[in-house]
Amino acid sequence: MARKRRRDFVYVETDGQVYLVRDRGAFRFPRADERLPFPTQPNGRMDLGEDRVMKRKPVLDHHPEEWLGRDAIFERADVDPLVKRAIYTTMIRCVSEVILSKGPRVLMVKAVRGFSKGHWNVPGGFMDYGESPEVGVEREAEEEIGVDIRLDGLLDVFVSGFPGKPAYTLGFVYKGHVASEEFRLKPDEIEDVGWFTVDKAMTLTRNPFAKWGLVDFFVGSPEARRALRVRRHGVAGGPTSGGGPTAFLDRDGVVNRGRPGYVRTPDQFEFLPRAIDGMRLLQDRGWRLVIVTNQDASGWKLLPERQLARIHASMIARLEEAGVHISEVYYCPHNVLSDCACRKPRPGMLLAAARDLGARPRAAWMIGDKPLDVQTGRAFGCRTAWVGPAAWRKRFAAEVRPWSPDVVASDLLAAARAIVKRDVQEDPRGSHDKVIA
Ligand SMILES: [Mg+2]
Repeated sequence: MARKRRRDFVYVETDGQVYLVRDRGAFRFPRADERLPFPTQPNGRMDLGEDRVMKRKPVLDHHPEEWLGRDAIFERADVDPLVKRAIYTTMIRCVSEVILSKGPRVLMVKAVRGFSKGHWNVPGGFMDYGESPEVGVEREAEEEIGVDIRLDGLLDVFVSGFPGKPAYTLGFVYKGHVASEEFRLKPDEIEDVGWFTVDKAMTLTRNPFAKWGLVDFFVGSPEARRALRVRRHGVAGGPTSGGGPTAFLDRDGVVNRGRPGYVRTPDQFEFLPRAIDGMRLLQDRGWRLVIVTNQDASGWKLLPERQLARIHASMIARLEEAGVHISEVYYCPHNVLSDCACRKPRPGMLLAAARDLGARPRAAWMIGDKPLDVQTGRAFGCRTAWVGPAAWRKRFAAEVRPWSPDVVASDLLAAARAIVKRDVQEDPRGSHDKVIA
């Protein structure tokens, strides 16, 4: 049997009125190849199984009273079910969540069902019918952990799509405290509860709202900021600065050629072809460049930190000569056996940049050659680019798949070109488009 052909439709709506065409006694969306009697502008896309619906905004000089009102459409029998499904998909879901803290640590709960099944998350959940976000989060959290909570304010409100779901979710994230630690966990929903440092909590949760809220909490908490110890070269001087998107670059295999036995002297540091061009392109488009590198060679005592500092000083000087400014170099001087906040895939170095430089996950990319780099970017809640020659990517394809990089590219310049093509600020509607550069 021939596969059903994918059909493209156009969903035009303005101010609650929907433009439909009459076809054999019923109303449906116009097909993409049908001519509309007014101009339109693109306004997102929905993948609804076999059918694809392009959302468009009309350019009109009047309010189209003659179109059908969106709320009335559900009660009509003469409207194509695809129209109802698309309108239903536009109705945003609302969740309300809370970051409960004790000093620098935050409370996470492990779910036995739902989106977070088997994973840790911050307390909270879907708001009930007619409920305010404050009331909703108090009810959800108190149900989950069995103790009273006190809210200390709203951290932020976010929007995100979720994998495999065409609808979007609005997330309110609060900060707060528990009134007691005599937890009584809701038996059919929560199997465990625990206090974690922010970097650890970010590796445990898959929830983007929790990640973004955790960064906001971290930046606003003097205790959490102080508790994070991350080594840096010391380029950044003066007061911490906000603003500007950040490109986090892994070093070996992205900026310079990796080497068996590690890069252990400035002479052994060899820039990869096109890497400097890639950095310059990002910089010219307003991106701040921050290097984040695991230095196992230091962890194994093969490379004293003073020598690592010389390598970085030489790298920075050569880049400055080429007109490229590095905002900071963060490095982890520990080895693979260490349980430190800084070693990728923990996002400690990225959090340090949030603290020191004002970097924020929704305006950041992590670019790296190892699956572990992509995992680090995901942990931080930013977008990710995975780079390397085809043979390298083939070798690690299975390992990188669970972290689904947003861009896959042969080298830093190719990744930079793909990144600058997109909006700087995360557009939730664009997050499903994968680019192979
Ligand atoms: Mg690398």
